[in-house]
Amino acid sequence: MTGKELWYISQAHHNGQLSGDGPFTKKCHQWLEQNIRCRQALLTHSCTAALEMTALLAEIKPGDEVIMPSYTFVTTASAFVLRGAAPVFVDIRPDTLNMDETKIEAAITNRTVAIVAVHYAGVGCDMDVIMSVAKRYNLLVIEDAAQGPLASYKGRHLGTIGNLGTFSFHETKNITSGEGGALIVNDERFLERSEIIREKGTNRSKFFRGQVDKYTWVDMGSSYLPGEIIAAFLLAQLEAASDITVRRLLIWQQYHDAFQELERQGLLRRPIIPESCQHNAHMYYLLLPNSGQRTQFIEGMKARGIQTVFHYIPLHSSPAGRRYGRAHGDLPVTDSIWERIVRLPLWLDLEQAEIENIIESTISVARVLRG
Ligand SMILES: *Cc1c(COP(=O)(O)O)cnc(C)c1O
Repeated sequence: MTGKELWYISQAHHNGQLSGDGPFTKKCHQWLEQNIRCRQALLTHSCTAALEMTALLAEIKPGDEVIMPSYTFVTTASAFVLRGAAPVFVDIRPDTLNMDETKIEAAITNRTVAIVAVHYAGVGCDMDVIMSVAKRYNLLVIEDAAQGPLASYKGRHLGTIGNLGTFSFHETKNITSGEGGALIVNDERFLERSEIIREKGTNRSKFFRGQVDKYTWVDMGSSYLPGEIIAAFLLAQLEAASDITVRRLLIWQQYHDAFQELERQGLLRRPIIPESCQHNAHMYYLLLPNSGQRTQFIEGMKARGIQTVFHYIPLHSSPAGRRYGRAHGDLPVTDSIWERIVRLPLWLDLEQAEIENIIESTISVARVLRG
């Protein structure tokens, strides 16, 4: 917590509206629209919910294909599978671990409807290339910016470049409300329908604005909005968002500087941030030479009381990924990265002594990895 969360929650209670779209939700929308500069931001109860909304907005139907990386969280894909689409997985770049934009065009078929750009670790994909491929083939671009709030690509906030974007405010993300998310609408064709889909397929948002005198069922939809207690917590986090990002960047940079020598010695590889990207220090990861060394590293750190983790069994080799989707060709970078990556602890309240302990332990453990 950053300070005001519990105070805002008590205010939400005092306001007397605990259901969604009350004053705190509106303030969160305003904060996002002003600070990340987008047409419309709508709070959801998760990034997964926002992704499901993008699939509804894109009018995905059975048989459609959606291009995305395999190296990502499950719901990047499952949101589209729910509507009957097949995810088509392409490989990632070895530097940023983002979808390799040069591999997208070859994966397009006459069934392709959308490209999902996942900004891994809050480092932007090459959006110029992705947007121009999409334009040439008349495809939608959906940014899964779950990890990307307050990060930017060529000066534009992640999530605001494609037709639609999504954020996560899950506990594991930079800005949190326990569970939470947002849909970012950049394409004006979707402004009205996104409100309707979020409000159970009704025009209730218009009703609350006095634009219609009664509300009714007008379209498909579901219940995607969070309650006011969540929005109150989130507003406090959003107001502290730039402090959170600055603090995380400081920790990230300490790690990065400290491990330069290990990288020079060829013991591991550090993250690479392209010139065009300002990241948000969502994650500090290391790439070890092979999976055996990764296991040794995790065990060595554990013996020193430090929990390090890895993630993303590639979706193209997961049981559901194989059932519902397909890989476009071989994905050698994906297959290699997920076996070698390890994430270091990185959260707001890490104390300086803990950071130094993590750094010293990483150096000692990395120096004695065998084979
Ligand atoms: C965390 C995450 C999600 C899911 O976010 P929730 O808010 O937990 O639904 C989706 N995509 C990516 C890339 C994520 O990191």
